Amino acid sequence: MKKTLQGTTVLHNGVKMPYFGLGVYKVENGDQVVNTVKTALDLGYRLIDTASLYENEEGVGQAIKESGIPREEIFVTSKVWNDDQGYDSTLRAFEKSLKKLDLEYIDLYLIHWAVKEKYLDTWKALVQLYKEGRVRAIGVSNFQIHHLQDIMDHFDEIPTVNQVELHPLLSQEELRSFCNQHQIKVEAWSPLARGRIFDHPTLKSLGEKYGKSPAQIILRWHLQNDVIVIPKSVHPERLKENADIFDFELTSEDMAAINALNENKRFGKDPDNFQF
Ligand code: NAD
Repeated sequence: MKKTLQGTTVLHNGVKMPYFGLGVYKVENGDQVVNTVKTALDLGYRLIDTASLYENEEGVGQAIKESGIPREEIFVTSKVWNDDQGYDSTLRAFEKSLKKLDLEYIDLYLIHWAVKEKYLDTWKALVQLYKEGRVRAIGVSNFQIHHLQDIMDHFDEIPTVNQVELHPLLSQEELRSFCNQHQIKVEAWSPLARGRIFDHPTLKSLGEKYGKSPAQIILRWHLQNDVIVIPKSVHPERLKENADIFDFELTSEDMAAINALNENKRFGKDPDNFQF
C-alpha cells in the first residue's frame, strides 16, 4: 500500500497511530521546542514523541495549542521515567506529564526503560490509566523479548508498541519478528543513528540511485520494514527533508542491501545492563 506523510498504522487495540513523526529528545523547552514542533506540524507531521525526561512537555503542549490543528488530529507520546516507576509513583508521574502538556489525554504512554523489579508494577499503573480512558494506548520502550514475555505472563493487556534503538547497524530482526508475532508495533528511536552512518558507502550510493539523501534512504527503509519512525531535528530544512520520503520506494534488493548492514551495534545503552 502506498505510504503517505499522514498515513497511520493500526495498533492492536484499534487505535490509529501515524507511522512517521518527530522526536524531541534534547530539544530545549521554550522557543526551541515550540518552534520545532510548530514547524513540523506545519509540514504535515502528526506524531510527536516526548518524555518527562526530555523536560520539554510544556513546550510541546504549547506548540500543539498554537498550531490551531484540532487536538484529535495530533498523536502525542510521552513516557514514564525510571525514577518514577512503581504503581503509585507512575500514576503521579502521569498526572504531572498531562499537566505539563496541558492536554486532556495522552495518545500513547510508554515505560521508558524496563527497570528491574519495578516494570510490572509500572505496567499495572499503565493498564489502569488505559482502562480509565486517560490514555488511548499503552506501550513500552527498550524492552527485550524476555521483558515482553514477562508482561504477557502476568497481564491480559499487552503493549501496543515497543520503542527501541533501531537503525541499519542495529536492525533488531529477532525482536521485530517477536513483536510482529504478538501484534506489538515496533518504533525506532535514533532511527538515523544520530547521523553517524550517513557516510556509509551503501547508503550513499543508494542515495545517488534514488536522488535522495542517506537520511531519507534510512527513513524509507524503516517504513518499508513496517517500523514507526520519529527522526529528530530542529532545523526546518532537515524537518522537511526527513518528511520527503513518500515519493519513492526501495526495491527488495535495496532493502536487503540495507538489512545486510546490521552489526548488532548499539550507540545507546543496553536495555539489559543500564544505569542512569
Ligand atoms: P536520530 O537518529 O533521530 O538523529 C537525530 C540527529 O540526526 C539530529 O540531532 C541531527 O544531528 C541529525 N539529523 C537529523 N536529520 C538529519 C538530516 N536530514 N540530515 C543530516 N542530519 C540529520 O536520533 P534521536 O534524537 O536519538 O532519536 C529520535 C527520537 O527518538 C528522539 O528525539 C526521542 O524522541 C526518541 N528517543 C527515545 C529513546 C528511548 O529510550 N525511548 C532514546 C533516544 C531517543
